Amino acid sequence: MTTEQIKSMQTRLGITSDGFWGPKSTATCQAWLRKLMPSTYPWPEQYEAKLASFYGSPGDESKLVNLDVSGLGVLYDRAPVKTIRCHGRVADSLHRVLTAVHASPFAYILEDYAGCFNDRPMRGGTAPSLHSRGAAIDLRPGTNGNLDHWPDAADMPLEVMAMFAAEGWLAAGANWGRDAMHFQATR
Ligand SMILES: [Zn+2]
Repeated sequence: MTTEQIKSMQTRLGITSDGFWGPKSTATCQAWLRKLMPSTYPWPEQYEAKLASFYGSPGDESKLVNLDVSGLGVLYDRAPVKTIRCHGRVADSLHRVLTAVHASPFAYILEDYAGCFNDRPMRGGTAPSLHSRGAAIDLRPGTNGNLDHWPDAADMPLEVMAMFAAEGWLAAGANWGRDAMHFQATR
């Protein structure tokens, strides 16, 4: 994001708009997103035992469904996407998020969908990624890479993170300061 975009995001969060995204901006942003989340939290904590009891085993394709996303303008490598293969327990929620994004000024984010179910470990680690349970989605990877610091060097809009937060999904950019393409259904 540009300094001006960071400043306007800080204004929205009610903090000093100096364009410098430090620990205070990070903490305020995380708290702001948390407040948007449902009061009864829908997703499991990010511990293997909790994930396993809620989602089942990593790579268990019997838990997956083909979510119909036709009409939402989702593109993968510029080709229209009709269905997204995701975990059955996140499907309705994911559809609501994508519908909200599609109806917003940020619909362009969906024009660069980069995957949901993928049976692989977390980047740079050995723990299974939430992608291995079909409970994570990547969007607009070109400008929100794993090593691109958000928001200085990545452009995932706060508004899109807010739409995911309304369904209880975590935004990697706001929470881990990188990999801003990534959203996952955990607390
Ligand atoms: Zn991801």
